[in-house]
Amino acid sequence: MRRGLLVVISGPSGVGKDTVIHRLLDLDPNLVYSVSGTTRMPRPGEKPDANYTFLSRDEFEKLVAQGAFLEHATYNGNLYGTFRDRVEKTRDQGRDMVLKIDVQGAEQVRRLMPDAILIFVVAPSENELRERQEKRGSESAEDLASRRRIAEREMTQASHYDHVVTNDDVERAAAEILDLIRRARASQT
Ligand code: 5GP
Repeated sequence: MRRGLLVVISGPSGVGKDTVIHRLLDLDPNLVYSVSGTTRMPRPGEKPDANYTFLSRDEFEKLVAQGAFLEHATYNGNLYGTFRDRVEKTRDQGRDMVLKIDVQGAEQVRRLMPDAILIFVVAPSENELRERQEKRGSESAEDLASRRRIAEREMTQASHYDHVVTNDDVERAAAEILDLIRRARASQT
């Protein structure tokens, strides 16, 4: 059986990664989303173990000490990490794992797993990104401002990724990513 691919998706806060990934998973049942652990508080509507596994800092740090995370990073004051066992199990089953992680996490994955496919999602313009960030409205003004500063830094990292996909339209962006995944599958065999 072929081993599942590792597909890393990064991009600035508010670019629409969640929506694109949601559509991507609908389009292809062989894709599995990697539910990360985080110390961030749940946003309204977020479900434990579906969006994230919500952890206390203490629980997170214990898991780090046990080597439970493939990679982990601090983003805007909170810890986020990819569960190693979830990724391994899925890939061993021949299914492809989709990770939504920040640029620090992507850097770690690239080093550990050079065959991972790294995709950076961008907005069609800076103005559009600003509007999307404001529309989301799930963060405090302070949180939004610091996410924006991080986003500016993250944008400078786009050239380190294998592919840059513009989220001008969710359907089109998801189809473009799926096409990249299908090509990678085809070259595996
Ligand atoms: P949010 O708080 O908006 O859900 O996520 C904030 C940032 O953390 C996003 O850039 C998201 O991609 C990233 N992130 C989510 N899960 C992980 C993870 O497991 N590892 C790393 N390194 N970043 C993550």
